Amino acid sequence: MTPSASRPNGVTGCTSGFPNSGVLSPAGFSAEMAKSATIVEVLIRFLGSMFHQRTIKQLVKTTGVGLHSGRRVELTLRPAAPDTGIVFHRIDLPEVVDLPAQAAMVKDTRMASVLSNGQARVSTVEHLMSALAGLGIDNLHVDLTAEEVPIMDGSAATFVYLLRSAGIQEQASAKQFLRVLKPIEVREGEGADAKWARLEPHEGFAVAFSIDFRHPAIDSTASFAEIDFATDSYVKQIARARTFGFVNEVEALRSAGLARGGSFDNAIVMDEYRVLNSDGLRYDDEFVKHKILDAVGDLYLIGKPLVARYVACKSGHALNNQLALKLLAQPDAFEIITYASAAQAPLAFRQEWKLA
Ligand SMILES: [Zn+2]
Repeated sequence: MTPSASRPNGVTGCTSGFPNSGVLSPAGFSAEMAKSATIVEVLIRFLGSMFHQRTIKQLVKTTGVGLHSGRRVELTLRPAAPDTGIVFHRIDLPEVVDLPAQAAMVKDTRMASVLSNGQARVSTVEHLMSALAGLGIDNLHVDLTAEEVPIMDGSAATFVYLLRSAGIQEQASAKQFLRVLKPIEVREGEGADAKWARLEPHEGFAVAFSIDFRHPAIDSTASFAEIDFATDSYVKQIARARTFGFVNEVEALRSAGLARGGSFDNAIVMDEYRVLNSDGLRYDDEFVKHKILDAVGDLYLIGKPLVARYVACKSGHALNNQLALKLLAQPDAFEIITYASAAQAPLAFRQEWKLA
């Protein structure tokens, strides 16, 4: 969760463009090679080698409060069979309701990404989804006893800890990736108020984000960050970045049923001038890093890890969801691929596995 990606009347911080933001065409990679790679891949898979799907080794649980509802909730993570995907289950309802973690299930993006199935909702899925993407977990059952994923410390660090405590299990099915073939962009507003998000072809996974909140505490930190997961660690550089909010917005949010569980224990809290948390920031650029954490989680609602580069300016949950839906609605803009072995997959998808 984060507040809207920019404040009213924000001056754009994104006019100068980002380095290397053109369509990347990896050296020497051609359609012919992609075809022959597929043949090699099939042969190697036949011989029993592949880059495997992952779940967790055993059940783990924790309890916390919902950031927006303020309600106590128990979260249980359970291993799931290959090709299950990530599925949330509301186990507190008279009949259990299943909510697959898919972009098409997102029905509300005010301050969080919220899945809905009929009357049943699961709110604030993005930080857990981000941890799952970061650790490369393909299949998982997520049981909840209330409508919101617990906020824990406001970052993805607790979920990373839980998942690594459970242990990561390779499964006997090939891991599927969604490889972006054409740039896809969504945009809102014009000129200085423009917000946008884009996916570009890239043989790996990288995220570049620019923020502009026109707030002294945020402006004094970096407004841009780029993370290339081939060389940067999700666990070390992204997972600990906390959500943030402004005290002068708390009353309005609470009367709208939001932020009722928010506190110094689960958010960076600011007045009009400064950060109020006594222990300050965890990263020098914690704000933009949290926007990257959110984007990684929102993009994982596409249902498979992306082989792509994501570039965004002042994006948020709503635009991220529109981007995911626009991509999925355009079948010629992507392909589903597998890798014959972990060694053949881009480095970006092997890093955290080594750490886990
Ligand atoms: Zn967030």
